[in-house]
Amino acid sequence: MITLGRRREIIQTATSAALTGPHDGLALDIIELIRQHNLRLAFVPLQRLYGAYIPSQSGNAGILIHNRQPRGLQRFTAAHELGHHLLHGGTAALDDSDALFDETSHTSEQEAQLFAGHLLMPLPYIAAAARLANVAHFETLTAEQAYTMAGLLDVSYKAAITQMHVTEMITPTLRNSLLGQRPSDVAQRIAFGEKVAMFTRAWAVRPDTASVASRVGVGDDIAITLPENRTTGYRWFIDSGDAVDIPYDEFTLDASTGADQDGSRRVGAGGERRLIVRPSRRGPWQAHLTYAPVHQREDPAETFTLTGSAVTTPQLEWNTRRIDRFLERTTTTE
Ligand SMILES: [Zn+2]
Repeated sequence: MITLGRRREIIQTATSAALTGPHDGLALDIIELIRQHNLRLAFVPLQRLYGAYIPSQSGNAGILIHNRQPRGLQRFTAAHELGHHLLHGGTAALDDSDALFDETSHTSEQEAQLFAGHLLMPLPYIAAAARLANVAHFETLTAEQAYTMAGLLDVSYKAAITQMHVTEMITPTLRNSLLGQRPSDVAQRIAFGEKVAMFTRAWAVRPDTASVASRVGVGDDIAITLPENRTTGYRWFIDSGDAVDIPYDEFTLDASTGADQDGSRRVGAGGERRLIVRPSRRGPWQAHLTYAPVHQREDPAETFTLTGSAVTTPQLEWNTRRIDRFLERTTTTE
């Protein structure tokens, strides 16, 4: 059991590290934070372990992360191991699923769990993620909203729901009902029923809710829904560079307009254009959308631009940044 005083101390340590730490949008840059603490970091196959903390009498202590896990889980494990370093510096830790998530674990594991939760999801950031996900009340939080919040914070669906439960934002009943849904099913609903690839996320984007994901990963599906009334001669056109794939592009009539099965429709029928935009490589990407007459694309009635910088797996980020720093050092000494 963690005493109340210790609990408060850990939450304060984690929250202040979170609020002053490096960020990309609402997502803590845990890789950079670990580097700032002069810890070694390695991504290796760990069998049944998710991660480990290795203290050191001489030189740098280190963190090991299982190399074949989704990004959110790797980030949560990294935060947990940083917790061991800051809270229990001299002691090694080997962490399996129970150590990371089980409420009945040893006190040191409970402490690292508490630290990781508040480091990646401090209360002000949960509130900000909820606003971006259009959550009016936590009592009515939907699986799609929880999934979007998890994406904005770059944690797993399960971690986000667990944190909202331990901070008493949602009831045990709501937690259980949300955890009863598989994140891959929630993602598929967001991506117009298309299956979303393993280790990637889906993001819902509408022009009226410009809360575009700031933390889009390579291979993520950005599902865009746009109103399109083809009877007016207008269409949405998309211009995107080579950093983006468009694996899905469909037009559907509104159900309410009474379209026939064979595709014929009443005059004035509105519809929806549905597109999936998928960043194909690390770094900046853009998709520029214009709503214009079919034969007059240069005269759009509306425009809508999505931009971002696609992130990749923590291990590729870690390695790429090491190479970047090495190149910076060697070029400045020339
Ligand atoms: Zn642990």
